[in-house]
Amino acid sequence: MSFASLGLSPALVRAIDERGYRVPTPIQSQALPPALRGGDVLGCAQTGSGKTAAFVLPILQQIQNSRRDRPRRLQALILVPTRELAAQVGEEIVSLAKYLPQRVKVAVVFGGVSINPQMMNMRGGADIMVATPGRLLDLIDHNAVKLDAVSLLVLDEADRLLDLGFGEELNRLLALLPARRQ
Ligand code: AMP
Repeated sequence: MSFASLGLSPALVRAIDERGYRVPTPIQSQALPPALRGGDVLGCAQTGSGKTAAFVLPILQQIQNSRRDRPRRLQALILVPTRELAAQVGEEIVSLAKYLPQRVKVAVVFGGVSINPQMMNMRGGADIMVATPGRLLDLIDHNAVKLDAVSLLVLDEADRLLDLGFGEELNRLLALLPARRQ
């Protein structure tokens, strides 16, 4: 199986190629087809197996095809347990979105640093957000983020999110998201 045969756009295939990904990894070849069809996916794979691209590519493919509102409304939310993972996922998104015809704005937010720059950065809106749960709730409490247009949700390293005690925050966030979502 090749990336192009999965129906990914030429802009995405070009970025994949530039990153040096020649063929999909097992988690990618299993997760990409159902995710690209709009289905829910539960995936389990080790770090380094390519799981990030397995959820980033379907998000970028869908966002590129969607109507673009002004100001931008948040369409995709990726919840992660740590700031390191948030930064890594953010970098992968920016790199894979490089050749999309319309610029995709990615916001990466996490706790342990000042909230003010993150609030300023959200003023023009964002298309995709990568967030740790506690800081996202803070931003929502400050009216800096709205989740009512989110149609794509990822719980990255869901087991670690729960191990680190984010269960209550996750429940609060899930209650704020539209019920119809992938
Ligand atoms: P993960 O942390 O599971 O997302 O794995 C990320 C690592 O896998 C990074 O080093 C990527 O550059 C690499 N990677 C992702 N997809 C592929 C692919 N199809 N072929 C080769 N390496 C890949």
